[in-house]
Amino acid sequence: MGEVKPASGEERLERVVVPEMEAILGRRFPVLDQGFIRVVDYMGSDASIVQAARVSYGKGTKQVHQDRGLIRYLMRHRHTTPFEMCEIKLHVRVPMDCWRQWIRHRTANINEYSTRYSIAIDAAQATAPDQWRLQARSNRQGSAGLLDADTGARLSQREAQLQRLAREVYEERLEAGVAREQARKDLPLSTYTEAYWKIDLHNLLHFLELRMHPTAQWEIRQYAEVICHQILKRWCPLAYEAFLDYRLNALWLSRIDQAVIREIARGDRESATRVAREAGLLPEDFQPGVTVLKRNRERMELEEKLRQLGLPVPWEPGA
Ligand SMILES: Cc1cc2nc3c(=O)[nH]c(=O)nc-3n(C[C@H](O)[C@H](O)[C@H](O)COP(=O)(O)OP(=O)(O)OC[C@H]3O[C@@H](n4cnc5c(N)ncnc54)[C@H](O)[C@@H]3O)c2cc1C
Repeated sequence: MGEVKPASGEERLERVVVPEMEAILGRRFPVLDQGFIRVVDYMGSDASIVQAARVSYGKGTKQVHQDRGLIRYLMRHRHTTPFEMCEIKLHVRVPMDCWRQWIRHRTANINEYSTRYSIAIDAAQATAPDQWRLQARSNRQGSAGLLDADTGARLSQREAQLQRLAREVYEERLEAGVAREQARKDLPLSTYTEAYWKIDLHNLLHFLELRMHPTAQWEIRQYAEVICHQILKRWCPLAYEAFLDYRLNALWLSRIDQAVIREIARGDRESATRVAREAGLLPEDFQPGVTVLKRNRERMELEEKLRQLGLPVPWEPGA
């Protein structure tokens, strides 16, 4: 093939290389007991976000905006398409129950290890005796606190027996000639699977925001934390910083939240309580110090936000 020469005045582009990412390509970041995440490939960097955004703003603004300021602006204002210019391909090993949550993110490109084609990976996630979590009372989907060590030790022992038996039965079926697609049906959800997972940065941030949230399951949070703090931080440090500031650690205030906070700031707790009552967060006949409050998710979330801001909860006794 002949050499392709740039036309006169044509911008010469260099392929984006992030040395911090080159250094970790293929390296396994361990997660849980036998899981891992490794970067297979990546495209783009902070510079690619800025480059794409500047196309939409025209060259005139090039000198005005600093890269960091522009990325922070884009993140704050949810101008999302420039973030889609970056992509990452990961190789992950994840227990199947966790993968079941992961796979719900439809905006990724995925190719998973086939247990129809190949023998299931001989690894199952084991829970340490001191890591059995108790069912949360306040959140039906969550956990809170840990089981006592003695009970935990017994459960871990039973888990090991169960996983061993399930694997033995699986291998017995294979030896008897049963098709892999059927032999696998009683393998536990703790069995590890592997996949290649490719996603653009915009959708990755959405994944991270949901899966790093304290209400997300602990196991998937471990993977999201590694992707965020070990990989994204190296890949796009400015986008990472803006994501932490404006998405992950930002506090979302509804119209009602703001009205309550405004009254607290004015020093009028009675009025703040009235606003909450009128918005249906407190019962109509609410009387401070007398009414026993029932569970109200919206009110409890507002109370949590007030605590985070170091503000009193105006309807609580002694506030
Ligand atoms: C804490 C938590 C608890 C959950 N509990 C449950 C549960 O009990 N049961 C359950 O089934 N799921 C549950 N989920 C899964 C959840 O409902 C979502 O399916 C999952 O988080 C993926 O989010 P997403 O659709 O925004 O992401 P993606 O699939 O990655 O999509 C990203 C965005 O693209 C857009 N998009 C993608 N596909 C479409 C489409 N077809 N139509 C319109 N817009 C689209 C949407 O804006 C979407 O937000 C839970 C998730 C979390 C984080």
